[in-house]
Amino acid sequence: MLTLKTGFYLFMVGGIFLSSGFSSEEKDFESSTRTAVIVVDLQADFTLGGPLPVPNSGKDYIEGVDSATRKFKGQGFRIFATQDWHPKGHISFYTSHKGKNVLDEVPIQDKESPVSDASQQQFERLQTLWPPHCVQGTEGADILLPTQGLEKLIEVVVQKGMHADYDSYSGFQDDGGNETPLNEMLKQIGVEKVVIYGIATDYCVKATVIDALKRNYKTSLITSLSRGVKPESTQEAIQDMKKAGAALYETVEDFLADAG
Ligand SMILES: [Zn+2]
Repeated sequence: MLTLKTGFYLFMVGGIFLSSGFSSEEKDFESSTRTAVIVVDLQADFTLGGPLPVPNSGKDYIEGVDSATRKFKGQGFRIFATQDWHPKGHISFYTSHKGKNVLDEVPIQDKESPVSDASQQQFERLQTLWPPHCVQGTEGADILLPTQGLEKLIEVVVQKGMHADYDSYSGFQDDGGNETPLNEMLKQIGVEKVVIYGIATDYCVKATVIDALKRNYKTSLITSLSRGVKPESTQEAIQDMKKAGAALYETVEDFLADAG
C-alpha cells in the first residue's frame, strides 16, 4: 500500500497523454486523468459490525462502492482514498473525556489559535464525541477496497486524524488547520475535478466536499455510494454541499453520462 502522511508523499505524473494528436477516445481518457475519485473513509469500523456503523453499510453497499470505483478506474480516473487513522486516546473518542457520552459535544480550548489575530472565542471549538474507532494499526481501520496486490484499486491512501488533539473530518485538513498532502498531490498530477463518495455523508464526506470546493476543484458527490449517520443531518448535508457548489449525481452512470 502506498501510504501517505503529512510531509511525505510520492506520486507519478501521467504525462503520456500530454502530446498532441489525440484521437477522441484518448481525449476522453486524458480528461478523466484530470479527474480524481476520492473514496472517503470506507473503513471497517464505520460499516456493519464495527463500533460506529452507519446505517445500510453491509456487504451490498461495500460491493457497490467496489464495482463503481472499478468502473471509474477502468475509464482512467485517478483513485484516491482517505483513511481515518487515530492514535489511541484521540480527542474525538468519548473515552478520552471523563463522564462524557457518545455524541456529546465538548468545548475544546486550543492553546494557540491557527489565526494570529484571532479573538479569544476563536480559540474554542466544539468536538463531537464518538466511540473509539479507526485506531492506527487495528483491523477496524482497514480500508475495505484493495490497496495493494493484483486487485489493487486505490492508487493513493491519504491518512488523516493522526494528531491526538485535532479531529479531521476533511480529507484536506484537520481542525487545527494542518493540511494533509491531498491538495498538493492533486495539483501535482494536474487534477481539476473531483468525484467524492463514501462515509459519512453528514460528516467526513461533507467536510471533504466543502474543502474541495474551497480549493477550487469542480466537485461532484455520488449520493447512492454515500452513507450518513442520521437521515435528517444527511439530507441537510446534501443541501449544504449543493448550495456550496457541488454537483449531485445519484449513480456513477449518471455522472459518466453527464461528465463524459
Ligand atoms: Zn475519526
